[in-house]
Amino acid sequence: MKKIIFVFLIIILLSGCQKENMQEEKLASTFKDISGEARVLVFTIYGRFFNLEGEIDGEKKDLTLVMRNSSNDEEVEYKVFTRKEDNKTIFKTNELINDGINLEQVLEGNYILFLKSTEDEKEIYYTLNNKTDYKDLEYYTITKNSSNRKINIKFNKYQDNNYMSLDCLKSKLPKNIYDIVLDPGHGGKDVGANKNGKYESQINLDYALSLKSSLEKLGLRVKLTREKDVSIPNYGEDGRVNFAYETKAKLFLSIHQNSAIYNVQDGGVEVYVPNHANTSFAESVVKNIVDMTSTTYSKNKSNKVKDGVYMRTLSAADIEDMQKEALKNGYEPYDKASTDSTYYFIIRETGGIVSGAYVDSRNKEKPWNNYYDSNYGSESYLFELGYINSSSNLDILVKEKDKYVEAITKSIKDYLEI
Ligand SMILES: [Zn+2]
Repeated sequence: MKKIIFVFLIIILLSGCQKENMQEEKLASTFKDISGEARVLVFTIYGRFFNLEGEIDGEKKDLTLVMRNSSNDEEVEYKVFTRKEDNKTIFKTNELINDGINLEQVLEGNYILFLKSTEDEKEIYYTLNNKTDYKDLEYYTITKNSSNRKINIKFNKYQDNNYMSLDCLKSKLPKNIYDIVLDPGHGGKDVGANKNGKYESQINLDYALSLKSSLEKLGLRVKLTREKDVSIPNYGEDGRVNFAYETKAKLFLSIHQNSAIYNVQDGGVEVYVPNHANTSFAESVVKNIVDMTSTTYSKNKSNKVKDGVYMRTLSAADIEDMQKEALKNGYEPYDKASTDSTYYFIIRETGGIVSGAYVDSRNKEKPWNNYYDSNYGSESYLFELGYINSSSNLDILVKEKDKYVEAITKSIKDYLEI
């Protein structure tokens, strides 16, 4: 018996060696024709989108990003946006934050990433060298037909070549990873807006619970930031923001009801989007809600981008207030806040560096947020489903919850291509 095990062991070891030799040969031939390297200055995942920014010496033409499958040498090309600066070409793979390389579309396989340019009608390849402080990234695809893939984005070295690789393999979704996080706004003592004995916090929770079960019917794994009428912190271990990072959720949807200081007659739906984002998901949500329920697009004109779609950034006064608040509470004010930063913290703080999250400098002294300066984050939106100080809107919100939930589910299904 021992002998047989021993023989098997040798066979396994030998086949292992052979595999390694093949990889060695493969890498040697891969890097034989490489003309140099490009420097990666930023690499991020935001929702489903992986993106790179970097620079390469000289003026390069027709740059594309290439993902080459190591087993069959097939290449997938991605668009790259470039500009010239001094004697360098600056490149990036996206213009809008929720665009670029959609990781859901990557097929199983092991890939090496290159920057490709066309010079004198010849295709020239450059490897990608990590010049950031960030290490490897890990991504789990959205649950479709009860299955997931795991993507590892890594930087490696073969002899003198520094290169970036991406491995995509079938994988079970770990217990702590979710497709979507739903965040019912407020809770506990913080009731939010209220009208006729109805509290916003309760309506938000009712909607989040219904939406969760509707999305689970599609096979999605959904997590709520709170499942009861309790108050939860924004930051810290059990804070709203941490849910996005810990679950690696692709979508983070915060559910609220609006209220105006004046008496509104007809209310209406508003979806707030992050700055510099493609608004197609928000447009779809508001359109489906308006089509499928008795509510309308909001009449609110401030910060309006399109019907029902809103984008608000910090004003100079907001930034000043944040700085005062920081000094009052004894922590350093955030130095990245600008009038280009998204106003709503739940949209801004859950998306990592892509959405300008800062989780402020309290984290430098008290490391209770492990995700400070994260280069991955969730694609986040804030829903103001209706105005609860409008009697007619409150009535619709209470009576037509199932229709709202159906409308939002339809948009999520379309957007995530489930
Ligand atoms: Zn609210």
